[in-house]
Amino acid sequence: MKIRLQRVQHMPKQLEPGVLYVAEHFGAAAHLCACGCGAKIRTPLGPVDWSLKETKRGPTLYPSIGNWQQACRSHYWIRAGEIIWAEKWTLEEIAAGRAREQQRARAYYDNPETDRKGLGQRLWQWLREFFGLS
Ligand SMILES: [Zn+2]
Repeated sequence: MKIRLQRVQHMPKQLEPGVLYVAEHFGAAAHLCACGCGAKIRTPLGPVDWSLKETKRGPTLYPSIGNWQQACRSHYWIRAGEIIWAEKWTLEEIAAGRAREQQRARAYYDNPETDRKGLGQRLWQWLREFFGLS
């Protein structure tokens, strides 16, 4: 199964299946759950969220997308424009995933060295260079 990248100024209300929408300016990305259940999956982009790379074959999102808050509990990777199915989350994995997210956020925001504005600007600059906007 394929997914393609579409850059938008604002997130559209209606999402098409098989499209990863990215509103770079807002650090936001969204797509419809790859299982077809119709759930809108939001994956914010940033140092404590997901990272996006564009390859020749399509977008890569890191880390994986675990929709444990959805009824389907789908878990998959988006790699080079492909949906790669992973194991469904077990209850333990859901708990571990939540703990990991909290740890990542805490490590980032608790670090007195972290200059949030500077980091944001560097990241933005990097994105601009990456997408050839500079
Ligand atoms: Zn689903």
